[in-house]
Parts: sequence; structure tokens; C-alpha cells
Amino acid sequence: MPGATFPILRVAIVGGGPGGLSSAIALSKLPNVEVTIYEKAKELQEIGAGIQIGYNCWKVLELLGVGRGVRGHVQETIIHRNGLNGKPLREQKSTAAEPRYRGQRVRRTRLQAALIAKVPEGVIKLRKRLISLTNVEGGGVHLVFEDGEEVIADLVIGGDGIRSVVRESVFPDHAIQFTGRTIWRVIIPKSLILDIPEMTSSTAWWHGTAGHFYNCLVDDPSEIPEDEQMFEIAVHNVVPAATVKEKRFSWGIPATNERVESHFTEYDPRVRDALSRVPQGLWKEFSSFSGPRLKKLIAWDKVVLIGDASHPLTGAFGSGAAFAMQDSWILAQAIPHTLSFSQPLASALDIFDSIRSPYYQRMYEHLDHQGKKIQDAKTNNPQQTFEESLDVKVKSFGGEALSWIYQNDIQEVWEEFVRNEKEHGKQSLK
Ligand SMILES: Cc1cc2nc3c(=O)[nH]c(=O)nc-3n(C[C@H](O)[C@H](O)[C@H](O)COP(=O)(O)OP(=O)(O)OC[C@H]3O[C@@H](n4cnc5c(N)ncnc54)[C@H](O)[C@@H]3O)c2cc1C
Repeated sequence: MPGATFPILRVAIVGGGPGGLSSAIALSKLPNVEVTIYEKAKELQEIGAGIQIGYNCWKVLELLGVGRGVRGHVQETIIHRNGLNGKPLREQKSTAAEPRYRGQRVRRTRLQAALIAKVPEGVIKLRKRLISLTNVEGGGVHLVFEDGEEVIADLVIGGDGIRSVVRESVFPDHAIQFTGRTIWRVIIPKSLILDIPEMTSSTAWWHGTAGHFYNCLVDDPSEIPEDEQMFEIAVHNVVPAATVKEKRFSWGIPATNERVESHFTEYDPRVRDALSRVPQGLWKEFSSFSGPRLKKLIAWDKVVLIGDASHPLTGAFGSGAAFAMQDSWILAQAIPHTLSFSQPLASALDIFDSIRSPYYQRMYEHLDHQGKKIQDAKTNNPQQTFEESLDVKVKSFGGEALSWIYQNDIQEVWEEFVRNEKEHGKQSLK
């Protein structure tokens, strides 16, 4: 609410991922808000190859004033193939009416650099690993960092990802576990695979019996010369989690080519050829962890969880960066909205929770429903062939049924909340 005044609000953001950075951008624009990001890394270095930016993400990037700096490969067509023989099964075409909202695959570093560029000077503090968080009755939140620094904040934003210390502190009974899905990701020069038929002509999913191979370009050809363009490969292998005995880490550990290739020996020769061209030492391995839905994303009237910390699903919809940034933007609307009506900070957190909790609940329900559909198809047809199971899987991708995710315009969501509030005369308008 422009022009609103309220006492200085000291905000501690834990984590400098897309959620933390976008919170800092959005909240720094508010009067009387003092923002600090505490990030455990010694430098903000993004790992994990490329990232999908669709309509929902472009919309929130625009609101944050960041969209222009983010450019990558426009995905006109996405092909789903039988990964074992390469047979095309389904083609998805870009449906965005306006070119600027088309789906793009971009280097993660591009998104991160664009966000960092908009964070005001001096806001990010590196080498600050949060180790504990305590509720100070009547007086903020006490944060302790590994290096011994202690601070008191009026509001803590937990943007510290899937293994969130903030979440663990406010909801100690919540736990995440390995899902059985292992993901390996890499970006390599496009020139290394140019001669492999149909490898660079479109984004493709090559579905196998226990996972898939995904390939995509990540650069805008009008900006990056052909010989400098990069190519992304992301491969998934899924096994029953209980069969995995080795210790798993969630984020970006190195993996050998042998380890990766050993899971794809039955795939189409083009897939195996592409994997064999990856220079040794570049693969990064990610173990997918997830945990149950949190009933609330807020605690103590002064802690709020955003992004992966708030809904531990490890990239289930390929849009987690957008969700994290939407959380940030909504929070930055709710705070001045309530404080300008002399409501306490807790009311802003309630508003945030009332908008974002049901949204995440819907995601959990969708995943349960999908899992049930796949299971039912197997139960109803115990002799189900690989081709039949592929058919069920491929039909579940994208489309109208998920427009509440991929076509979500967060500004409209906020405007609808304000309209409803006016109609029903809720608290902040008293
Ligand atoms: C394999 C894979 C593929 C994905 N693909 C996509 C995609 O295509 N598109 C998309 O939108 N999303 C994708 N996602 C999801 C996306 O990466 C996440 O949803 C997004 O990064 C979440 O942002 P965040 O800011 O909540 O958390 P993170 O990006 O995890 O950032 C958390 C930050 O907190 C810091 N931190 C952690 N603990 C502490 C602590 N104790 N103290 C201080 N700092 C701490 C970390 O160092 C990190 O910088 C994918 C995820 C995975 C695993």
C-alpha cells in the first residue's frame, strides 16, 4: 500500500535461492522494512544446469522487475518418445498467445544473476549458516548462525530449501525422506552432440521403464553464437526407496559417467550416444526427497516458510522456482496491506497462509490422484505392457488440467483476494 507507514520491520531471510532473493527484492521496495539475507554458501553459485520458465514464472518475474535479464531457448515443441526405441508418442506445442510468455529453458545461472542484480547492495550476507531459531516471547525471533553471530528479527522468512532448518525449528515433527528418484543433470556444449539425429531439433522426453532422459537447448540463439550454445541433459532413475541402502544427499554431488550410463543401457542408441559424449566430471547427482504437506506455512506469528521449505516436493511440477517467487510476492503484498490498516504482522502472515496453503494442498492432492491413476491402471490390467503404462504417463503431462499451475497469474490471485475481502468486509478493512 503506497504511502503506508509503520515502525521499522526487521526481516531475516534465511537462504539465497530464488525464494530468498525474490523476497529481498519485493520487501526492499516497502517503506520501513529492513531486509537481510543470510545464506550459508561462501558464494552464491547456482548448480543444476537449466530451469524451466513458463507463463506463471514470467508473470512473477515481471512483477519483480527481473524478466528482462532472463533469456534462454524458446520451446516451440516438446516431444515425448518411447525411450527404448525413440518412437514419438505425443507432441506439445507452445500455446502462449504473447511471445514473451512462451516457455523457455534457461541456464540456472541466468535466473540467479538476474535476481541478484535486483537485490539492493549490502542485503546478502554469505557464510551464514543458520543453526537455530527461537521464539522470543513478546520480542521477535532469535537466530543463531554457525559462525557465532546472533540476531533478533521481527519476521523470519524460511527460504532455506528442502532441508530447511527454519521448518525443522518451527515444525520439529515434520520429516522428509528419499523418494527413490535419482536425478543426474549436466550442461555440455551443443557442438558435442550436433551430429546425433533429432537430439537438438526439439526438447524431448525419452521415457524408459524406470525413469527418463530429457534433453533441451538452454540458450537464445539471437544472443549466444552457435559455437557457444549449451545443451542440457537431465536423466531420472526411479526405484522403490526401500531398496536403496546407500546414504543419499539431496543436492548436487558429483557423479561418474559410468554411474549415470549404467541406468540407461536399454535406451535408444541416440540416448546412449548422447550420454557417452558427456565429458567426465560434469554430472551432478540429486536425490529427490519429499515430505508430507504442512498444515500451516506460518508459525509463532512471525515465521513464514516459502518455496521448497514450505512444500517439500523436490521439483515435482518442474516449476518450484516460480512457486518460491510467487510466495515472496504475495508476502510482500500482504505485509503493507495489513499494516496500513493498523493490523498486526500476524494478520499479514494469516493472509499469506490463506492464499498459499490451499494452493500447495491442491498440488499434494494432484500428485496423490496421479499416483492412484497409475496404480489403478496397473491393478485393472495386471498384464499391462510397457507401451500401455507409457500411454498413461505421457497423457498426464501438462495440458488444461494443470492450468492452475502453469497459467497461474499471481497478480490476479492477489487482486481476487482483495476483491473478496472487500465484498466480505474482512479484518484488514475494518
Ligand atoms: C532436479 C531438479 C530439477 C528442477 N527443475 C526445475 C525447473 O525446471 N523449473 C523450476 O522452476 N524449478 C525446478 N526445480 C525446483 C527448483 O530448483 C526449486 O523449487 C527452487 O530452487 C526452490 O527455491 P528456494 O529458494 O525455495 O530453495 P533453494 O533454491 O533450495 O535455495 C535454498 C537456499 O538456502 C540456503 N540454505 C539452506 N540451508 C541454510 C541454512 N541453514 N542457513 C542459511 N542458508 C541456507 C541454500 O544454500 C540455498 O541457497 C527443480 C529441482 C530439482 C531438484
